[in-house]
Amino acid sequence: MKDRSSQGVLFLEWLQRGRSPSILIRSPAKVNLRLEVLARRPDGYHDIRSVMVPVGLFDLLHIVLTEKEGIHLSCSQQDLPVDERNLAFRAGLLMLEAAGKRQGVEIRIEKRIPVAAGLGGGSSNAAATLVGLNRLLKTNLSRVDLMAMAGELGADVPFFVFGRPALATGIGGDLEQLTRLPRLWFLLVYPGISISTKWAYEKLNFRLTKRGDHINMPTFFWDIGNLAGLLRNDLERAVLQEYPVLEGIKKSLLRAGAVGALMSGSGSTVYGLFLAKEKAKDAYGELKEEFGKRDWEIFLTQNIGS
Ligand code: ATP
Repeated sequence: MKDRSSQGVLFLEWLQRGRSPSILIRSPAKVNLRLEVLARRPDGYHDIRSVMVPVGLFDLLHIVLTEKEGIHLSCSQQDLPVDERNLAFRAGLLMLEAAGKRQGVEIRIEKRIPVAAGLGGGSSNAAATLVGLNRLLKTNLSRVDLMAMAGELGADVPFFVFGRPALATGIGGDLEQLTRLPRLWFLLVYPGISISTKWAYEKLNFRLTKRGDHINMPTFFWDIGNLAGLLRNDLERAVLQEYPVLEGIKKSLLRAGAVGALMSGSGSTVYGLFLAKEKAKDAYGELKEEFGKRDWEIFLTQNIGS
């Protein structure tokens, strides 16, 4: 049996092989078109206002129900933990608890999204596990319920359950859909630097970010010409100070024709924004040439989920 259905961006594919029900899920990356950090909260989190979009760069999760109780996780990337420290593992435990089933779950993650790169890979894997197990275990939780569970796992996890371009407020879990976002091209450059989100927030200097230029944030897009004006990341200044190589990548992206360039999340991925396919492809070629000899990763991708 092969039955395909889509739930938001997470693309599920049922594979009924032998006796074990299983599911394949594409787990997308995200980029921040904007990330305003508004205040530090007493609980250590930060209130933010962010425009986040899922993009077509995916990890692949294969989830299988088994008889051997508990979560059994494996990952193509050897240096990632496969126990409670992995967000997908914790998501699996939460779903088993919610389903009230003494069931075994095998999760295999094929990693393609660079780790600790500002692309939300871990959060996305957790969301994919929640959505996939909700189907496999027939828990039938609503998207709202799943988003509430996602919030227990991390600030960005609800966004990936939501699965659409969104304006995120609070600590990131209050989501409003952004409509009419055109298809854009993102040239992602990951220079192989792992950055801890906690570190980036600690480095943030609020006096330097409060410039009184908070714009009225639309939840729909009508002015593609002004998209570059939306780009802002309050974490960027401090991270670029520590890693000047990121500033160089931004300059290269702009030289190659990007209408704007920005660090995503807490970095280290920097992206160039392009409105036209041809320009984006040409720039991809140029940057491959320029950075090809380094051990960096470059992806050309588009926003998805709208
Ligand atoms: P965030 O901005 O949410 O911190 P990020 O995109 O910068 O995310 P991730 O790739 O999510 O970074 O990884 C952040 C940390 O989470 C890493 O140190 C990694 O060890 C841990 N982690 C836990 N589970 C996963 C997972 N399934 N995939 C990737 N990283 C994971």
